[in-house]
Parts: sequence; structure tokens; C-alpha cells
Amino acid sequence: MTDQIQAGVHDQESLPLALWRVACQSGSRAGNLIHSGPENFAIGVAFVAARAKLSAVRFDYVIVGAGSAGCVLANRLSADPARSVCLIEAGPADRSPLIHIPAGVLATLPGRYLNWAYHTVPQPGLMGRRGYQPRGRTLGGSSSINAMIYIRGHRGDYDGWAAMGNPGWSYDEVLPYFRRSEDQQRGADHYHGVGGELSVADLQSPVPASLAFVESAIRHGLRANGDFNGANQEGAGLYQVTQRRGRRCSAAVAFLHPVRLRPNLSVLTGASAERILLDGRRATGVLVAGRAGRQRIEATREVILSAGVFGSPQLLMLSGIGAREELGRHGIALLHELPGVGANLADHVDLSLVYRSSDPSLMGITLRTAVRAIPGYFEWRRRGTGMLTTNFAEAGAFLKTRADLARPDVQLHFVNGMVDDHARRLHYGYGVSCHVAVLRPASRGSVRLNSADPKDAPCIDPNFLASDADVATLLAGVKIAREIMGGAPLDRHRGVEFHAIGQSDEELTDRIRRRADTIYHPVGTCRMGHD
Ligand SMILES: Cc1cc2nc3c(=O)[nH]c(=O)nc-3n(C[C@H](O)[C@H](O)[C@H](O)COP(=O)(O)OP(=O)(O)OC[C@H]3O[C@@H](n4cnc5c(N)ncnc54)[C@H](O)[C@@H]3O)c2cc1C
Repeated sequence: MTDQIQAGVHDQESLPLALWRVACQSGSRAGNLIHSGPENFAIGVAFVAARAKLSAVRFDYVIVGAGSAGCVLANRLSADPARSVCLIEAGPADRSPLIHIPAGVLATLPGRYLNWAYHTVPQPGLMGRRGYQPRGRTLGGSSSINAMIYIRGHRGDYDGWAAMGNPGWSYDEVLPYFRRSEDQQRGADHYHGVGGELSVADLQSPVPASLAFVESAIRHGLRANGDFNGANQEGAGLYQVTQRRGRRCSAAVAFLHPVRLRPNLSVLTGASAERILLDGRRATGVLVAGRAGRQRIEATREVILSAGVFGSPQLLMLSGIGAREELGRHGIALLHELPGVGANLADHVDLSLVYRSSDPSLMGITLRTAVRAIPGYFEWRRRGTGMLTTNFAEAGAFLKTRADLARPDVQLHFVNGMVDDHARRLHYGYGVSCHVAVLRPASRGSVRLNSADPKDAPCIDPNFLASDADVATLLAGVKIAREIMGGAPLDRHRGVEFHAIGQSDEELTDRIRRRADTIYHPVGTCRMGHD
């Protein structure tokens, strides 16, 4: 088999071209339909067609979705040259410099550029507002557009999964895998590894305000935490990031590009899986669509779904695997009844406190920032340092809103900039923000189908703040965050609060319901275990 990964997958397009593409695609963000850039499909399908002429399109393993999970799987499975592996990705190759320049996240977060940019159904808990759900749509998936913060779950989370009937998922059992895949800039210890694929580094050039946030949190009573992934998660500190020498180290950069010449690995971009092919209850392949038509890709051993929290349950349901009633509503024949598919959606609901500032070292929508960005770009290219290496959410904290809790229940992200409505509303000037997120929400939502058409976006309902307990936790977290943000160390960096909200619990709760939304961590729609 010849090298089938996209030629030039590593070559970047120019920054002006990438910015032009952002501008072209930002206008269409309001829609909820899956957007497919024709050039992306053309690449993938032309490739599949070429292969089809050569031989049957058949592999040992077919992996759907080249995101955080899919890239790792493709790497590990193709390590054995005797296995053939095909990785299918709906989005394009990750050539955009706006992926690899960390600050490019500001361009990919708000719109449809390399982003599925989904919207939820109206949320009763958010006063009927629709939430926004960005998801990466390129090699690397969401790891190509995320904030790069390297955070593992709490020890208790993994132990809880194991207790729910998932052998092998306890913290002590998953730790060796974290260590194996990690290249920790600070060196190895009990919790961290070196020499792995995923580069984990300290921020190259954090802004003074991020350090001031940490100091303010410590003065407020939180412990200083230099390693959120070490012995103890609780406390305040600067985040470590998945970057290598100031460049984003996405799952594609870490796990896919280094093995792109393996002859037993094929990577198809612009290829959207529409249905899992089944022989009885056995998955035998995937039906893939592109501009030039549809193609069957067969798997002699396994079909692996890693299309993300929304894509994977959608594909299962389109294939006849899911809840009887839901499939019946859309006229899809039930082939395998699995009511858990699409159920149990859990997400970190979050409120962002936004402050104006006059601190010019921050990222702002200002002429000065624009001018600084030009030498900043050349500094990033030459040395991998400077303002463009920011992941914006540079510092943060894990805290307990009640002393009797065993684990932190709130996470804070201190942001170098004004983040209003997922950066979809831009404001002139400098500012800082503090995200307050509920870590273990009680509310549960779902992913269902809008229709039997694979091009339709899934119907996403996180059911935010349905549980009063989540409202209480967020309220308690917001109060603590406001105190930290009001601390003296931040005086030089923080001005007035952007959306004045008052002080009473009623006023704060009203603000939460009017403005809260996701901090981008939806999970749980393809359940594991047998609880
Ligand atoms: C804006 C943002 C910021 C975040 N910040 C952080 C952070 O700082 N730290 C952190 O740890 N986590 C962060 N996350 C979350 C983290 O990135 C995700 O949890 C993780 O990447 C999910 O991995 P995945 O493999 O499940 O899905 P994804 O990485 O989303 O991959 C799914 C892939 O499948 C593809 N796909 C979907 N449907 C199909 C189909 N039918 N056919 C073919 N391909 C398909 C998609 O295009 C995508 O490439 C953030 C997420 C976002 C969106």
C-alpha cells in the first residue's frame, strides 16, 4: 500500500489566506446545518475514488473522526505494520496557521471556520436562549481549536468510572497511559512522563495580569498549585498547555503527522461518514459521502467511532442503533436497540465575568494590539515566544464551594481578554475575564436527531441548569470569583465589570440564567459501563 495520507498535510497555508477564509465563513454562523467546504470533500473523495479503482476499499480498522481520540487510535493501531488502518475525517487537513499559532483560537472559536459551530435547542434553564457549541472540524478535531489547557480529570472521577463497571479505568490504571503519551517540559516524575507524543509545556509568555490573578486567588485563601495534574488538583496557578516551542500541539500534530509515512495508515479528509454498515449486529464498514458521491469503506476487524460527543451518537442513530422511539420518529429502521445512545449529555455550564481594563499588555481589540501583532508574528515564527503564544485562558483555579466536598466542584479560567458570548461579540479596548464553571453538573441532557439526513446537525440539548444544585454551585462559584477578581493584586489590570450585575443572590442568579453557557466540555453520549 502506498502512502495515503494527504500530501502536504504538514504544509501551512499563508496567514492572509487563512484570515480571508475566516472572513468568508463568519457570516454564515447562525445556521445549524452542517457546512461542507467543497474543496474539502473533493480532496477526500477523489482520493477514495482513486483507491477504489486500485482495489476494494478495505482495511482492518476503520476509525471515524480524526479528533483527540481518533488521532491517538490511528497512531497506536498502525504501530503494528501488519494492520491496515483508515482514519476518516469530515473536515480538511490542518494547514491553517490559525490552528498552529495559539492566539489563532480567537479566529476559530466564534464562527464556522474549521468549526462545526453547533447551536443547542432553546434552554429553559437559560431563559429560552440557544447555547453555542463549537467543535473542531479538521485533522485534530477540537484539539485543533481548543484552549490547549492540559488538565486531566480528578483522581476520583476515574475511580468513579471504574466503580460503575469499567475495568481498567481507575486513576492508577490510566496514569501509565497519561505518562506514556506525555512529553512534559519540566521532566518526568510520578505523575508525568517525557518522550511521549504530546508536548506539555509552561506558557511561553504569560501576561502580568495572569500572575496577578494567581496572587489574588492565593490571598483569597486558595493554595498555590504549580501542577493541577499532580498529587492535588485544588488551588490556583498558571495552566500548562499542549504546546511545543510556542506552537499548538494538537492531537494531529502530536500523534498523526509523525506517523504520516506509515504505509499501513490511510487518512481521508473531507470525507463524511453517513452510516455504519452492519451485517446483522456486526459493524462491517462505513458509508462515506463526498461531493463526488458515496463510497463504502469496509473494516475486516473493527469500526471505531471517535466522531466526538455529538458526531458519534448521531452516526449510531443514523445507522439504526439507538432508542426505538427516537429512530422511529425519523423513519430509521431499528437494527440494535440501545436507549443510552445520545442520552446522558453532561457539560460544564459556565458564566464569564468580564472586566474592562487599561492594561496595554493584555490582548485587546485596539490599534496598539494590532500593531504589536506584526512583530509578535515574527517573534512567534523565529523564537516561538511572545503575545501570539497566548492561549488566552492562561491561569485558573480548582476550588470547593463547600468545605465538606471531597473534590473541587468549580473551575476558574482567568482570560487575557474580554470574552463576551464566546468572542462572538467583540468590544473595543482591553479587558480580562474570569470563567466560572460547574465541574460535576447534576443536569443531564441529550443528543437526538433533527432528521434522518446526515447533513443535518444533531439536535443538542444540554439541559443546562435544570438542576437547582447546579445553580447553587455556580452562584457560590461566581461569588468567590468576584472576590478574587476584586483583589488588590488585580487592581492594575482590572477596570469596571462589563455587565453590571448587582450583589444579591436574586440578581446574580438572574445574571447566570441570562448569560451562562458552555465552557466546551460536553461528554457522555455514548455511555460506558453497565450501571
Ligand atoms: C473551544 C474549545 C475549547 C476547549 N478547551 C479545552 C482545553 O483547553 N483543554 C481541554 O482539555 N479540553 C478543551 N476542550 C475540549 C476538548 O478539546 C475535547 O473534549 C476533545 O478534543 C474531544 O475529543 P474527541 O476526540 O471526543 O472529539 P473531537 O476532537 O471533536 O473530534 C471529533 C472529530 O470527528 C469528526 N467528525 C464528526 N462527525 C464525523 C463524521 N460523520 N464523519 C467523519 N468525521 C466526523 C470531527 O470533524 C472531528 O474532527 C475544548 C473544546 C473546545 C471546542
